Amino acid sequence: MHEPHARISAPPATAASLPDDVTPSGACASGALIARNPATGDEIRRVPRPSACDVHAAIARARLASVCLAQAPLSVRARLLRRIADALESNAEPLARRVVAESGKTLAHALEADLAGAIAVLRHTARIGPHALSERQEWSPAGALLGRLHRSESRPLGVVALITPWNYPMGIVVSGLAPALMAGNAVVFKPSELAIDCAYALAEIVADSLRACSLPQDALTLLPGDGAVGEILTDGAIDHCLFTGSAAVGRRVRDKLTARGISTSLELGGSCPLILLENRGGDRQAALQTALSYALFGRLANNGQACGAVKRLYVPRADVPAVLAALETAMRAVRLGPPLDSATHVGPLISDRQRATLHAQIEDARARGARILCGGVIPEGPGWYYPPTLLSDVPPGARVLTEETFGPALPVIAYDDASHAVALANDSPYALTASVFGDPQEAAALARQLTAPLVAINDLALLNYSLPQIPWRGRQDSGWGAGVHGAPILDALSERRYYSRNVTIRWPFLRKPPWHLHRGDCAQDAAFSARVLAFTGGSPFWRWLRPSLARGFFQRRASRQW
Ligand code: NDP
Repeated sequence: MHEPHARISAPPATAASLPDDVTPSGACASGALIARNPATGDEIRRVPRPSACDVHAAIARARLASVCLAQAPLSVRARLLRRIADALESNAEPLARRVVAESGKTLAHALEADLAGAIAVLRHTARIGPHALSERQEWSPAGALLGRLHRSESRPLGVVALITPWNYPMGIVVSGLAPALMAGNAVVFKPSELAIDCAYALAEIVADSLRACSLPQDALTLLPGDGAVGEILTDGAIDHCLFTGSAAVGRRVRDKLTARGISTSLELGGSCPLILLENRGGDRQAALQTALSYALFGRLANNGQACGAVKRLYVPRADVPAVLAALETAMRAVRLGPPLDSATHVGPLISDRQRATLHAQIEDARARGARILCGGVIPEGPGWYYPPTLLSDVPPGARVLTEETFGPALPVIAYDDASHAVALANDSPYALTASVFGDPQEAAALARQLTAPLVAINDLALLNYSLPQIPWRGRQDSGWGAGVHGAPILDALSERRYYSRNVTIRWPFLRKPPWHLHRGDCAQDAAFSARVLAFTGGSPFWRWLRPSLARGFFQRRASRQW
């Protein structure tokens, strides 16, 4: 048996220097971390472990870089993201092979989900960033009538701590990195100790791109290490933390930072349901087969290790035997094997610990009376493999239903009617994705009753992660804050400041201070102000005037004034 993944700690490497086997600075450094291939146990990379003073020094360097990055025009920051995307695109295959070697996922999935997803996020962020973060005039009808012009500008927060898991070592990292850099923040990046080599690969590309755009190298500081390094990082002088990982660690990070008044964005685990409806229209049998093939992909993609994967399958009671028979046949046909073998469907899990957790969850279900129709046995031999496992008759309260399962295990649960399906699907502390298969109208009505914020109809909500235009965010134990992708995360990683300017100060006949304060009668003042606000806010005259004349007049004036 191979030893479990050694802890892979690493130096507080700036993206510029990217030390490989370099000893971190001074006496504070201790030990080394080793990245291993989960399919073979072979060593991939060994890096030194950063110390507390290395972490704090990295944050200090990032703060200096953030000042410079904040002054870089939005167009330059967008160019940086496009350069990173170009580099990822032209090195996609070798990078995907590094992802496969360290994570155990198949090459196809590494290319489609990790690389393609990362490239799409970079390009989309570069496209929307300059507009979303631009300086702009704000419009207030009442303000305009009173001679006030308003303008806003977006400022970066400063230093963003980016803490990521191992399951999508390119895609998830870029989902945080792209908006953070676009908004003008310097990033201190702590990858999972199980994804160190991929972190180095990405940081090298970012370093080259920063150099090409004449931006400071410390705009990205790679700080590989274990949870202890994450703990030190979140104790440091950061301005925001973008965390993706488990609910337990995420909650701890949020509570700690909230107590210090530091904002967080958390993307956490999921126990996502897929509901198959009774009413499937047309050929019910064909619709069932289609839904099950989606369910199977949604469960087994990335070797079952995705936050938004299908983790609970709800089917009408009458369909249970047919569903179990079809899924058992399909799961037994799944090929478990080396991830680089093109015949492989499912590779190994990331670590011995992850496999032990999954197996304990399945044993818990078995002990409570669940039937294991296939899988559920740890195979002999090297690598952290686990076979696709189908469970039925799982009683409520079993760990496979109440906890997140991170591996190829699928419990099938019978329901009686739509409201029963909704109650079962919502009976979870997690709320991330859900998928409903069946008649589109019935599915849409049911989708509205689910607590998950990302719901797909006759599709897998998991696939939304590859669509950077659609914000991705969990609620309850699945997330907190703005989520990732799209404009909301750019807003969360910047601060918009609002400036007002009184232009009447230059007009002689209005050179007095605000006139309504000098009328002597407060009640009359208030009534008059209310009338002005009501008029400017809602009168039909104003509704006609505002778009046509006043707005253009004041905005033209405003751009001359500022
Ligand atoms: P963990 O929560 O164990 O770790 C996530 C990151 O946090 C790692 O870099 C980890 O370092 C670090 N960390 C651990 N302890 C601390 C601490 N005390 N303070 C600060 N940082 C710490 O999650 P996993 O890496 O196991 O990732 C799997 C989880 O991520 C699953 O629950 C999955 O659902 C979730 N996830 C959610 C996504 C979403 O978008 N909602 C997307 C992908 C995954 P280290 O690993 O080195 O110990």
